[in-house]
Amino acid sequence: MSPLSNLAVRDVETLIHPYTNLAQHRETGPLVLERGQGIRVYDSNGKDYIEGLAGLWCTSLGYGNEELVEAAAAQMRKLSFTHIFGGKSHDPAIELAEKLKEIAPAEISKVFFTSSGSEANDTQVKLVWYYNNALGRPEKKKIIARQRGYHGVTIASASLTGLPANHGDFDLPIKNIMHTDCPHPYRGMEAGESEEDFSRRLAQNLEEMILREGPETVAAFIAEPVMGAGGVIIPPKGYFPAIQEVLRKYDVLMIDDEVICGFGRLGTMFGAQTLDIRPDTVSVAKALSSAYQPIGAVMVNEAVYQAMVEESRKLGTFGHGYTYSGHPVAAAVAIKTLEIYERENIVGQVAAKAPHFARRIQGFADHPLVGDARALGLIGALELVANKETKAGFTKPGVAAKLASLCEAEGLILRAIFGETLAICPPLIITEAEIDELADRLGRALDQCE
Ligand code: PLP
Repeated sequence: MSPLSNLAVRDVETLIHPYTNLAQHRETGPLVLERGQGIRVYDSNGKDYIEGLAGLWCTSLGYGNEELVEAAAAQMRKLSFTHIFGGKSHDPAIELAEKLKEIAPAEISKVFFTSSGSEANDTQVKLVWYYNNALGRPEKKKIIARQRGYHGVTIASASLTGLPANHGDFDLPIKNIMHTDCPHPYRGMEAGESEEDFSRRLAQNLEEMILREGPETVAAFIAEPVMGAGGVIIPPKGYFPAIQEVLRKYDVLMIDDEVICGFGRLGTMFGAQTLDIRPDTVSVAKALSSAYQPIGAVMVNEAVYQAMVEESRKLGTFGHGYTYSGHPVAAAVAIKTLEIYERENIVGQVAAKAPHFARRIQGFADHPLVGDARALGLIGALELVANKETKAGFTKPGVAAKLASLCEAEGLILRAIFGETLAICPPLIITEAEIDELADRLGRALDQCE
């Protein structure tokens, strides 16, 4: 192992890294990145990497976008901060809320801003409870999420997340949050079952869960259109229509977590439009600003909003909000980001490039280590297995992580996620030639993996 550089030593001595094996990090040290341009980032030795996960599924417009830099600088010069508590307001927050309402995948009444996806989903939980208290149904509080879903790391959003690492030894999930099936065709479909049958079976299981718990106690269901961190899981055909039929029957709100799928990732503005989701409320973050600023939002329908109005009338205030809710600089950057998406027809471009992306990803399906190669829009994954026939996993875990480090050596940043899966989610501005370059680098890494 090469000795750590000066920066790496300082890192190890000072930083706690999220989602990192902290013991191992002391030995290996960090990859220190210095700058970025287009779809590439460069380390402190000048080596280039294709950012194949768009940072953390967020840098849709890539790096070095001067328009976004300028939007931030101009707003900082004009009014670097004002909060929007207690009736104060400012131009960028108003304009961004108007724009989100206009493009939202549902009849959205109002928008509440956060700084992250976790804060957005935490807010969702509080709003669901607030809503049912306002309606005089204090017992209707349970929220059903899904195994392997990812919704963040705050106490409520980590509880919604359905991954063991987010619960184990953090004493989560909190009460009133439960998890139904993960809609993973590769792992979950039974022999002879069609995708539609599988969807119906999952909807039936959900209905049984609601009946077991008592429909009068179940308030909401939360889902990502395509699960991201839980394994890039593309639901089977007919999944959301079948699920939503059950939700409607028992008056259960549909919360659509668009933190990854929102703003073009699946080739439509929102994942809801690709997968036929009819949400009551929506969470967004990440690509809302192409990660040039931390910003997220919760969008709610009129019924939820009216309940909030009534509760705040009764209690004297709507007692929730972050210092940086609607931060003017973040909002200005988000407005510019949405303007660029529209002007450059980014969503249409994703739809046009998606078949090429899918062909290149699915081209790895024959590799002996690849059990399943899947893609939709510009998100995809390779699920690695020890035995393609039986789909059996590895006796020793960490094969996807090893593949990710082989990719890194080849100049490609990807991420090993749950289920020995390697996630691929490049900036939306990637060209077909760059998709080829990404796939070639991935292919070279895969061939070295054992
Ligand atoms: N929801 C989804 C679908 C996500 O993928 C993420 C983060 O990856 C979150 C919520 C949490 O967002 P954040 O990390 O900004 O808190």
